[in-house]
Amino acid sequence: MSDDCIFCKIVAKEIPGEIVYADEYVTAFRDIQPAAPVHVLIVPNKHIPSMNEVDEEDAVLIGRMHLAAKQVAEQEGIAERGYRLVINTGDEGGQVVYHLHLHLMGGKKLSIPKYN
Ligand code: AMP
Repeated sequence: MSDDCIFCKIVAKEIPGEIVYADEYVTAFRDIQPAAPVHVLIVPNKHIPSMNEVDEEDAVLIGRMHLAAKQVAEQEGIAERGYRLVINTGDEGGQVVYHLHLHLMGGKKLSIPKYN
């Protein structure tokens, strides 16, 4: 746990979060400023600042984040219609909170991002 990390505090239940899934490895909670009808963040319980700090020993954890996202999509009733999973990394990648997180977004037809 990192003392000044807001997502670590949500995982530790030191500050409120609308948690929709949690296990030994990951926690999923609703984004406070949803960009879609369903917008959930899936985070590792241990503090990893971003994808840049992920290493070989985290491979299973990264897989668990994706399996949790799949489960939450099913729980939220959007699995069949479809959804988007996104990890923003670093300043130019649009990362604002430096605790690794997977965005699960769905519940409407999402626009296709423009990358240029
Ligand atoms: P990113 O730009 O990928 O770092 O995304 C950070 C996300 O965290 C944004 O979508 C924010 O709305 C969301 N967020 C920030 N603080 C909180 C919070 N306390 N609870 C839930 N979501 C949050």
